[in-house]
Amino acid sequence: MNVEILTIGNEILIGKTQDTNSNWMAKRIAKYGHRLKRITTIGDDLNEISSTIKNILARNPDMIITTGGLGPTFDDMTLEGIAKGLEREIELNQHAFNSIKKAYENATRRGILKLEGMTKERKKMAYLPQGSTPLPNTVGTAPGVKLTEGHITIFILPGVPAEMKSMFRNVITPLLKERKGKFIEKGFIFTGIGESQIAPYITKLEHEYPKLWIKTHPRIGLSVEVELSITCFNVDNGEKLVEEALTKAKDIVHNLNGKIKTK
Ligand code: ATP
Ligand code: MG
Repeated sequence: MNVEILTIGNEILIGKTQDTNSNWMAKRIAKYGHRLKRITTIGDDLNEISSTIKNILARNPDMIITTGGLGPTFDDMTLEGIAKGLEREIELNQHAFNSIKKAYENATRRGILKLEGMTKERKKMAYLPQGSTPLPNTVGTAPGVKLTEGHITIFILPGVPAEMKSMFRNVITPLLKERKGKFIEKGFIFTGIGESQIAPYITKLEHEYPKLWIKTHPRIGLSVEVELSITCFNVDNGEKLVEEALTKAKDIVHNLNGKIKTK
């Protein structure tokens, strides 16, 4: 599957919060052999959210995952923005309403929160775009949302990492597994040769294996240590090709008098 992530939150754009959610999701999307095509970060702005969703839909991915902006405050406008982008109304979802009500009742009963009842702010979280299926939030209060637009599945998840992760594990991981592709990543670290010195040899190797992505990444300062990684998605015979290319890459390092540090 082709996947896109949309991270929503002013706090990310001012550097108050680091977007760890996308990174966490990206690892899992790759692990199950799916291709994350883009991560977009925007603020809590209605028009920005709706126009960004429109742009993502136009690129026609199989899955869109958004994170952030589902809470009770006025600046959480993800649901409204997505509804606008999809040209759908938002409407009170009774399942969502009931689950939010229950979560607050539990919280007041256990003495975690003092304010009782479904206030305007709490009710706001139950207004979902038409056609939404609410996703239970077992960690917090705001439900997530599942939507489909044509063949595209859209998941709208909270920003609080614990809530996002639990929903991702419960709902998205099973889907990623069901439509599992094959992702292979192998590599090693070497010293003694700079990235620029090895570059022409790696380019040649890359041409020899067009289905693999062969890449060097500098690790410390001026390439004192370089990591070479070989990855591929859904390639027939991928294991064999990666092993072959890996052996050739090691030969290149040896021939240039470099030293392999790991593996
Ligand atoms: P809730 O529904 O629980 O109110 P929310 O969906 O409204 O959550 P936000 O208001 O966007 O989420 O963010 C709540 C908190 O979650 C932020 O203050 C921040 O600490 C954290 N958070 C939000 N987005 C991210 C992200 N992309 N990566 C890591 N942490 C995040
Ligand atoms: Mg919030």
